[in-house]
Amino acid sequence: MSSDHIFQKFCHEATSTAIFGEIICQKLKEPIEQSVYKKTARDLASEMRTECPSLNGNRSNLEKHILETLAEEEDFDKYMDYIHNPRDHFKSFIRDEVSIYITDKFSVSVLPKMKENIELLQQKIMKAAHESTEHVQENRGDVGLWLKSFTQRLSDELIFSEKDLCGVKHDDIDVDFKILEDVIRKELSSITSNIHKTNISNKKMDFRFRPDELLIDHFCQCCWVHCPFCGATCTNAIENHHGDHSVAFHRVIGIKGSHCFLSQNFCVDICTNLVASDKDFLTLDGLFPCNEYRKAGGVYAKWSITPDCFELPYWKWFVCRFQKDLENHYKEKIVGKGEIPNQWKKLRKQDAIESLDKCF
Ligand SMILES: [Zn+2]
Ligand SMILES: [Zn+2]
Repeated sequence: MSSDHIFQKFCHEATSTAIFGEIICQKLKEPIEQSVYKKTARDLASEMRTECPSLNGNRSNLEKHILETLAEEEDFDKYMDYIHNPRDHFKSFIRDEVSIYITDKFSVSVLPKMKENIELLQQKIMKAAHESTEHVQENRGDVGLWLKSFTQRLSDELIFSEKDLCGVKHDDIDVDFKILEDVIRKELSSITSNIHKTNISNKKMDFRFRPDELLIDHFCQCCWVHCPFCGATCTNAIENHHGDHSVAFHRVIGIKGSHCFLSQNFCVDICTNLVASDKDFLTLDGLFPCNEYRKAGGVYAKWSITPDCFELPYWKWFVCRFQKDLENHYKEKIVGKGEIPNQWKKLRKQDAIESLDKCF
């Protein structure tokens, strides 16, 4: 005999209002938990979007914080992850920020929010029960009508279908609706205080209901096309947008592994000065002048790179700081044409980080 059958038989035989009320609350236990966790995740996501410095702006602001963190940690592998898998890097950065926030603010923000959502939901369920009782009394209805009304009134609040409660056989139950409301109130407090206890003892949120995905959706549904020269990501907030791709700050081209033309040397050019130069670049379709890069067609034709003499000091510091790592990673030497200009070597980490503050 399946548990549902036992359950139906049990209900069929049940004559007491108390048992009927307990059964309803057992059926609501999981939907209540899910609703509380989901609402709390939404509340936390919106709180983080105002309180958390990395998440309280647009994607460029987030990227600035990612670059700052990378510079502070000075971990070359993390840089390579950011450069070669930017979308995954953004996602894991957001997950880390959420973890830190939840741990830091667990008792001052997460728990109070959960408590508030639990209380609100309890009130709504009790209101639905009370209104259903009134509805039954006005219409001289029976338990069946009460269940139908109760289910409908909660359908916006809880994720459960009428089917969940349909299994509650109630033909021969004699229900005292006043007592039923008291039973439900009592059962609800025990369900909700259990949620509360579980969270206090876990000291963290269930991963399935954390705000990570909401924030990732917010920040990562955008254009991720890379500059064909330096690999910087287009900053347009719309995926598959019309018009050209563009980015405010291009990088030192060698960072993503591109060589100088006709050499195995690291390329120290930055796109914005490259497109103003008389240099050439090579694609599978042949040789093209950099100052007419769009002629190369394909992704080159879809990028707007305007000549500019401003260069973000950040990437210059990065090349100097990680010269050996870059040479090992790309199996090339940073010499000859690709030699690092002496000016770059004077930049300190602090200069790199400050240049982000000025530019982003
Ligand atoms: Zn570029
Ligand atoms: Zn784009």
